[in-house]
Amino acid sequence: MRYVSTRGGAPAVTFEHAVLSGWAQDGGMLLPERIPKIASATLEQWRELHYGELCEAVLRLFMAEDELPELKDVCSRAFAGFGSDSVVELQQLPGTAEAATATAAIHIAELWHGPSLAFKDLGMQVLCQSLQSLLTRNGSNDTRTVLISTSGDTGPSALQAVTDAPSLHCIVLYPIGRVSRVQEAQMLAQAGAANATVIACEGTSDDMDIPCAQVFEDAAFARDNHIGTVNSVNVLRLLVQVVHYFYAYLKVTAAAPGSPPPVYFSVPTGAAGNITAGVIARLMGLPAAGFLVAVNENDVMHRMLSTGVMEKSADVLLTTSPAMDIQAPYNVERLFHLLWRDGDPDKGASIRALMADFNSGERVPLPQHLKDGIAALNFKSVSVSNARAAAAIRTAYQADSYVLDPHTAVGVATAMDTILKNRRGIVVCMGCAHAAKFPETIQAALALPSLAEACRIIPNRDHKCVAATVAATDALSAGAAVQIEVFTKGKDWLARLKEVIREVTAQRAEAAGLNSDGVAGLV
Ligand SMILES: *Cc1c(COP(=O)(O)O)cnc(C)c1O
Repeated sequence: MRYVSTRGGAPAVTFEHAVLSGWAQDGGMLLPERIPKIASATLEQWRELHYGELCEAVLRLFMAEDELPELKDVCSRAFAGFGSDSVVELQQLPGTAEAATATAAIHIAELWHGPSLAFKDLGMQVLCQSLQSLLTRNGSNDTRTVLISTSGDTGPSALQAVTDAPSLHCIVLYPIGRVSRVQEAQMLAQAGAANATVIACEGTSDDMDIPCAQVFEDAAFARDNHIGTVNSVNVLRLLVQVVHYFYAYLKVTAAAPGSPPPVYFSVPTGAAGNITAGVIARLMGLPAAGFLVAVNENDVMHRMLSTGVMEKSADVLLTTSPAMDIQAPYNVERLFHLLWRDGDPDKGASIRALMADFNSGERVPLPQHLKDGIAALNFKSVSVSNARAAAAIRTAYQADSYVLDPHTAVGVATAMDTILKNRRGIVVCMGCAHAAKFPETIQAALALPSLAEACRIIPNRDHKCVAATVAATDALSAGAAVQIEVFTKGKDWLARLKEVIREVTAQRAEAAGLNSDGVAGLV
């Protein structure tokens, strides 16, 4: 299987190249050159598989055996640190459905059982373990220093994922005062690891992006220092997300495998990676009856799907679901590529033009054939306000004693307000994070008297990852001192970032010398 650019202007690349590079060379996004189809008999065989085995089976369809022979190990190592043996769990919310006077059932697919309690752990863990395998294959001892500028969820997830990937060194920059208390605690708890560097910045995400981009643009520096990326553009992170659609479908239809009810998916959406993965699953043969694209007040996707016109809004609004506060849902470029009419020789150039117009702030009407392609998948979208999401948190708590995280709540509210009524079947709501990451929002939604009370009612179900996060947050609140570097305003961030990277490279070289020669100091 080769990987092609959505913009058609770069040569097809191998799986290894795609995984190591992130973006396509022409600025487009990488996708497999064709989507493998699965037979219904295969789907039935998948019913018995553990999540890790299903992940292996699905990913194997996107690469040849010899491209990642260690895939089985990769999948088992990736999920070893999860707080649930099943990796992903399904929970039905009967009371919530009843409160919505629904005829369809609501199930939450809990995707957050990983070490940072966010669904990004699924893709990030598999990616970092795959990189570890690729970098050390055939006795090679290659390394990568990966740079992450995080607005919240990606930093903790990446720091956790490299703890078991020693060939990677992760440098995370985060904006002081702009990530939540819990997210900051999660990052600081990893800051002491040998292959992690955490830097707090006095500025915004945009301020941090500038030196990170400049490091990449200095091609000689990036090469000499083995700079790599694990950003969400990476096609492997996308492919891993295909797995949970199949897994959830097979679990919720287990009671009636011969005559399954219609199954819809409600997907909290930011950069549109998760929903694009759902579309890939559908094109592979997943019998999904439809998709709900659930966005918060940042509604670019909702406007696009409901009016057929793609256009940025003036500002990014800060909402209670911060991981979805996104103006540019960049994975739509992949959706366009996947759903474009067959046989169009101008496909790549047309997609490039659409994206260029969108990025320069223009109003971009989608071509009719693309709107038809989207309609054929039975998409529906809703923009959910903070108040509506808070009401969904209240309903689920009162009716089912289930504490939704604010991102999952956007998906549940969407399900309640749209397809549940007058339809039979099942809605799988993607559970994107655990509520313990957002106790402030839970406190406000449930009108609880204190943050401590919110923390008390959020269940941890003897979950090692929840417990670790709570302990890290308590330690930070109690004033535990963690020494990390701060990029103050006015300092030359790029120069200092390069110094930090060179130090990592030097340590790596020293360690490699140690390993190959056995004895330190005698060489
Ligand atoms: C990243 C993230 C999302 C959005 O996912 P996309 O693939 O970017 O659409 C939703 N919820 C949480 C908690 C996330 O971390």
